[in-house]
Amino acid sequence: MQPARNAWIGCINAIAGPAWIFLLAALPQSLAMPQTPFGGDGEPPIRESTARESRERGDGEKEDAKEKEKEKEKEKEKEKEKEPPPPATKARPRPAPPGSSELVDERKRMVETQIAHPWDGRTAVMSEAVLDAMRTVPRHEFTPDDIRKEAYEDSPLPIGQGQTISQPYIVAMMTEHLRLTPESRVLEIGTGSGYQAAVLAHLTPHVYTVEIIGVLAERAKKTLQAQGYKEVECLNADGYDGWKEKGPFDAIIVTCAAGHLPPPLWEQLKPGGRIVIPIGGPSEVQRLVLMTKTPTGKRESRTLTLVRFVPLTRGRGETK
Ligand code: SAH
Repeated sequence: MQPARNAWIGCINAIAGPAWIFLLAALPQSLAMPQTPFGGDGEPPIRESTARESRERGDGEKEDAKEKEKEKEKEKEKEKEKEPPPPATKARPRPAPPGSSELVDERKRMVETQIAHPWDGRTAVMSEAVLDAMRTVPRHEFTPDDIRKEAYEDSPLPIGQGQTISQPYIVAMMTEHLRLTPESRVLEIGTGSGYQAAVLAHLTPHVYTVEIIGVLAERAKKTLQAQGYKEVECLNADGYDGWKEKGPFDAIIVTCAAGHLPPPLWEQLKPGGRIVIPIGGPSEVQRLVLMTKTPTGKRESRTLTLVRFVPLTRGRGETK
């Protein structure tokens, strides 16, 4: 029995493929449409009547040309939003973890059918570095013993304390959107099993991860050590506050859902940095949002997909 498996709350689940499309149709536009609700700096749309009015005033062709120019800019912006993340970054060379010699075929199959060439229309992950990491990290070492066999299935799994290890596809696509290089410093909020942190460690040695539940933080630390991920630094604390001493970061990945972006995380992000975070309430479908800090410090946001993550909770963390 895995009572948490099918639980409505406490289950991280990407709504992919047909289910996703169905939900899109059923959801209010505000949820379903990519938008920039967190301080995006989009201009108001150009009003048809404004153009007409100015033509009538005799501003004529000049205005027309300006108008067209603006339209073109908008089109370009829209195209940019649709662009998939570049197949970025080379995996850094690092020793394979001991568990990676087991269940090799299961992992290959997981990557092929769920992540690199998904059968159901979800956006494929293209970064070879990320795919390599997913082929290498022994997911079964991060799941509880009694459900090891299910480690490579296309779903989240319970890890105790009412928490879950994310679905493999979601781990891969969130990682890809961070665009890590071996020089990047990356912060994860919500260590859980330690699996996501291990995947990150194949892209950069500068991985910092914070978990609020003591038992999970302790277990993840042990698993990471046993699998040779000594470069991953773990902290048992409330990740709402980030990890200031280790910042600023090039990328931040939040693996629990928050009602808003915790301000300390924004402060600890470098200009040019990227945050991937599920935004929404605990019993709602949430939006997985990519936020970028422009070189001048402005925030740009876009929704990547709809998800269901366990909630970000507050205040139970001890310090170290
Ligand atoms: N990334 C994990 C799965 C995360 S599940 C993995 O690869 O296994 C979400 C985790 O976020 C849970 O372990 C939960 O305890 C943790 N969490 C919730 N609120 C938190 C907070 N404020 N700070 C740090 N961790 C938090």
